[in-house]
Amino acid sequence: MKNRLVLSFLVAALLTSCATVRNPVTGEYERTVMDERTELAEGQKAHQEVLKEYRALDNPAVQAYVNSIGQKLAKASQRADLEWHFTVLDSPEINAFALPGGYVYVTRGILAYLNDEAELAGVIGHEIGHVTARHASQRATRQQAAGVGVLLANVLGAVLESKGYGGAGDLTNQVSQITAAGYIASYSRGQESQSDQLGAEYLAKNNYDSARMIDVIEMLKNQEAFAADMAKKEGRTAPPRANWLASHPSSEKRLEDIRQTALLNHNPRADTGRERYLQAINGIFFGEGREEGVTRGQQFFHEPLGFALTAPPGWRIQNSSSDLTVINGAGDAALVMRTVPAKADATHAEIVQKLFNPVNGRTSQTTINGFAATNFVGTARVQANGQPGSQAGTQSVDATIITGPEQQHYLFMHMAKNAAILQRERGTMLAAEKTFRALSDKDRALAKPWRIKVVTFPAGGFAQLGKRAPASLPNAEAQLRLINGAYPDGTVKAGSLVKGVE
Ligand SMILES: [Zn+2]
Repeated sequence: MKNRLVLSFLVAALLTSCATVRNPVTGEYERTVMDERTELAEGQKAHQEVLKEYRALDNPAVQAYVNSIGQKLAKASQRADLEWHFTVLDSPEINAFALPGGYVYVTRGILAYLNDEAELAGVIGHEIGHVTARHASQRATRQQAAGVGVLLANVLGAVLESKGYGGAGDLTNQVSQITAAGYIASYSRGQESQSDQLGAEYLAKNNYDSARMIDVIEMLKNQEAFAADMAKKEGRTAPPRANWLASHPSSEKRLEDIRQTALLNHNPRADTGRERYLQAINGIFFGEGREEGVTRGQQFFHEPLGFALTAPPGWRIQNSSSDLTVINGAGDAALVMRTVPAKADATHAEIVQKLFNPVNGRTSQTTINGFAATNFVGTARVQANGQPGSQAGTQSVDATIITGPEQQHYLFMHMAKNAAILQRERGTMLAAEKTFRALSDKDRALAKPWRIKVVTFPAGGFAQLGKRAPASLPNAEAQLRLINGAYPDGTVKAGSLVKGVE
């Protein structure tokens, strides 16, 4: 969770003009609402949205390194003249994406999982392919034809939608997704394959082994297998797909295609840039960073905001860029917490009025660990949020506002699939809410994020590497295998450089 509420949901471009544009990759003319000038302007606008939603990583050396790889690959593309921008986002999500007009992003999350420069180039090359082949522009054209138009979300509506309030879906099935400006939805399989081909071409032109793209897909599949294995071990359902593969549909067919394409330019003797890569990412945060707060078992610590929260036994903490969600084991009830942008001296009554514009309801005041708290139960007026089927209307609300450290206001929404479940779980949610507290010195010590540390692979293998990891890192040996491309049972040559966690 970041220390401000993101209000800029899905500000999709309003595209009106129509034009015929020559596709840089196919050379064919296609009808589009986005000529090149519009594409650049829209890309620039959406870029600002991305930076608002996801900070750029504050690490000039990593940014420069990723940019140098990106620029080199883009020079080998069909749109070498475009002004390209490569940005590392400060997000633990394992993702990469591109916007129209030459904006490409990789998260620090995916950097922790890649093992060398060739793999990084594979990811970036693929994303460059989406830009050069104008896939997003094609999709914007289709979306307008389908009449989706401008999506506007009202805060409450968006929270309720995304959390499946009112029986819209299983709460455990929601995935935090980068959705900047509506461009980052799924591409078609055809577009994915074309980007794979283009990426392989750019790799080969830069003397990378294009077969490394296969390793990237396999790494992501291993990451999913790992997540499923851990979920099984803890007796919960496997989490939904939340990595690069989620926004880039993959299948056995795609893997097969990618194999064929990549092996055309297979060059096993090419420099992988492994050492350069590992040196470049040495020291980056692994998992949640300081700015979004860290989850340690049932505890959540947010150092910049100065608070801690404890989840009830059997409930799970899910930390996304916009909110902190504590979900019950069955996945049908959740406590959703967000910061509320309001004047520090705003009263809770004013905040309730502004957030919910209530038709009716009642409030009750209390104090939680020294902080003023107000619970509101009532009926809110909800605006249509632009989603298909969404309508203006009313919605019952059960929420608590707490004014925490530094006069920051927090909203805790009590949500469940239906009213009966809400009644059943309400007491547990209120109890969880009551653990909201200022960080103690002991909490501060636990709030330290994990970092990647490049080390020589020890003689004792991953077991030994795991013992050196912080005690707070769950399943350390398996995690370390995973980030080093050796999950579940691969191996690494003794004495070579690997990623540890400290
Ligand atoms: Zn893709």
